[in-house]
Formats: sequence, structure tokens, C-alpha cells
Amino acid sequence: LIVLDKVNKHFGSLHVLKDIELTVGRGEVVVVIGPSGSGKSTLCRAINRLEPVQSGTITVDGRPLPAEGRALARLRADVGMVFQSFNLFAHRTVLDNVMLAPLKVRRRPRADAERRGRELLDRVGLLDQADKLPAQLSGGQQQRVAIARALAMEPKAMLFDEPTSALDPEMINEVLEVMQQLAEEGMTMVVVTHEMGFARSAADRVVFMADGRIVEDRVPEDFFTDPRTDRARDFLSKIL
Ligand code: ATP
Ligand code: MG
Repeated sequence: LIVLDKVNKHFGSLHVLKDIELTVGRGEVVVVIGPSGSGKSTLCRAINRLEPVQSGTITVDGRPLPAEGRALARLRADVGMVFQSFNLFAHRTVLDNVMLAPLKVRRRPRADAERRGRELLDRVGLLDQADKLPAQLSGGQQQRVAIARALAMEPKAMLFDEPTSALDPEMINEVLEVMQQLAEEGMTMVVVTHEMGFARSAADRVVFMADGRIVEDRVPEDFFTDPRTDRARDFLSKIL
């Protein structure tokens, strides 16, 4: 579904993605890990074209990433993204946050968008919070709203960039559970996270990045029990 071929990205003289080759099949869950600055966020942002790349090709569902206009808006709807900071609309209710994009971008009738919005809030366990403002919710709840909002666009794939790293420990699991459920339902997912329990239980593959390169791309069990590179071994010894 998502294919990156020899992708290179520079920020000025800084080479942050180096010949990235990555394929994420339909229904696959790929967890991306690696040290700070290794290019994980840039990789996610490149897939959604929040960052243009200088060379190589990225295709989603067989189509090269569009540069602008309507096709780009469609891509962003097809590939949902959830960030560390929830980026909810502060002055809109929880339900409005989930309904807004389907109304405006997908041009759904209001009643449909609302019904679907409530379904999604129910799915992330927040139907009873529909009429609150984001600030009245906990961080874990806000992140679940952000996930529901991305799902409201009926994406083909979801990108998560450290979705739990801004959360207090007791709220991490409620977000991971929603993600685990999505994974089990067959959503195609790219997840940057340091939650190794999630990687073990939900990932089909673990991609380890260092210094702008994909250093290992393995099934979780192999990666965790027998990392091939010193860099991965070193990284795992620090976080496990
Ligand atoms: P972290 O674990 O800290 O989130 P990361 O693996 O997500 O790190 P990236 O955010 O992708 O790393 O950054 C990769 C490199 O690109 C870093 O050296 C970073 O400083 C640099 N970088 C990222 N965004 C920009 C930008 N907009 N302009 C210039 N340099 C940038
Ligand atoms: Mg990052």
C-alpha cells in the first residue's frame, strides 16, 4: 500500500533520509524505532507529504504522492496522521473535532457525519465526552479523539508519530489499546513509538532507523531476540 523507493531528504546540508526503501503492505503494522534525530518523524511526514523529499519515489496505493491541490488533500485524508501533540481544535467540541473534516473535505451530509462521529467516539470509548471541549479531557482522552478524528476520514492507512510520548504513564495504555484494536481490525499502520510491548504484540515488522538509514527491518521476535547490528543492540539495551 505504501512504497518508498530510494528516498532521500535533505534539510539544507543535513541529509536526514538516506536511500530509504520501505514497503508497507495492506493491513500491515510497521513499528519504527531508533535514536532521537534518526529521521523517524521525517519519514512519517514524508509519507503524508508534510515534508517534500528531494529524490526517490513514494507511492500510496499505487499512486505517486501529489504535490498540491485536491489530490494532496485526498492523500492527507487517505493517510491519517496522529502526532505527539494532539492538535485538536480547542474551541470546538469533541464531536465537532471528529465531524469537521468529513463535512468539509469529504462533503458528507451533516447527519451522516454526526452519526459516524458518534460511532467513532464510541469505538475509542469517549461517546459520553462528545459535547466537551478538548481542554476538559485528559491527555489520553484527547489523543483518542485525535485518533477518532483521523479515522473519520476513512483512511487507507494511519501514521502515528510517538502518540503516547506526551502522556502521563497511566494514560498510555488506553491509547495503545485503541491502536492495538485498529491493528487487529486490519488497518495499515506505521507507528513511531518506543513502546516495545506494543511493538511485540501488534507489529508485523520492526524498522530500526539510525542516522537517516533503515538499519534493520525484521519481524519483532527476531529483532528483539537477535538484533543484527551493534547500533540496534546498543539502542535496545538503553530502552528495554
Ligand atoms: P526524535 O526521536 O527526537 O523525534 P526523529 O527520529 O523523529 O527524532 P527527525 O525529527 O525526523 O528525527 O529529525 C531528523 C533530523 O532532521 C534531525 O537532525 C533534525 O534536527 C532534523 N530536522 C527535522 N526537521 C527539520 C527541519 N524542519 N529543519 C531542519 N532540520 C530538521
Ligand atoms: Mg520524531
